[in-house]
Amino acid sequence: PDVPEAEALQHADVARLLPVPAGESDKYRRGLVGVVAGSAKYPGAAVLAVAGALRGGAGGVRYVGPGGPAVLARFPETLVSEGTPAEAGRVQAWAVGPGLAEGPGLDDVLASDVPVLIDADALRTLDAAAVRARTAPTVLTPHAGEAAALLGAERAEVEAGRLAAVREIAARYGATVLLKGSTTLVAGPAPDVPVRVNPTGTSWLATAGSGDVLSGLTGSLLAAGFAPRDAASVGAYLHGLAARLAADGAPLAAHDVADHLPAAWRNVT
Ligand code: AMP
Ligand code: MG
Repeated sequence: PDVPEAEALQHADVARLLPVPAGESDKYRRGLVGVVAGSAKYPGAAVLAVAGALRGGAGGVRYVGPGGPAVLARFPETLVSEGTPAEAGRVQAWAVGPGLAEGPGLDDVLASDVPVLIDADALRTLDAAAVRARTAPTVLTPHAGEAAALLGAERAEVEAGRLAAVREIAARYGATVLLKGSTTLVAGPAPDVPVRVNPTGTSWLATAGSGDVLSGLTGSLLAAGFAPRDAASVGAYLHGLAARLAADGAPLAAHDVADHLPAAWRNVT
């Protein structure tokens, strides 16, 4: 049968995918998401990624990195570890990359046996063979510039053929790929599935830090048990809807998007 190249994600699909915690659920069963983000240069990225992760349905957030004090000042419910991801306790998924400095963070999470989301500068040094060799799912969340780095291409080439670019990255890395921009596309992990096109969002999302919120949110959905393709597309859907609710025709700050995620979730259910 003919498979369409692309399909719009429908509100009803998202509603069906959102989990409702069972009466006997507990925070461990709801999953812990590990966030590896932030650096001395970009301490705020850690706070924004955790802000997204706290609203994605996981039972808890473990932050690993140098931004612990800033994260705790804003979100006292976060578990904070100072060492490396390998030294931190077990999590059900990792989100790595926003504002990250070089260090063992990326290598440690690549070596783990749980789903991993990779964003931002961590995408620029990524080895395709290392990603393909992983035993658990990987989700990559590039914007056009990061997508160009993943392909060894020019940014203009990605912009000129976004559908082909997102499929090509998914095929080369054996991953689920969320290509950000004015329209967000989700491809993979299988080569023959339609690319999902996200219908929510607003151009007010083109603001510093908004991608960091998406990384934490989508990592949290992975930890909560979503399949990678669903985590990426539901993450993009809720993020775009939250931005619309937050912006309401006016400029927004990235943390406003995180603050409106619960309202976006309620809007879908
Ligand atoms: P980042 O590039 O990592 O900061 O992420 C930016 C976020 O804003 C992503 O979720 C993009 O999809 C979104 N975004 C950027 N530009 C636009 C735009 N013109 N219209 C809608 N969303 C956008
Ligand atoms: Mg970014």
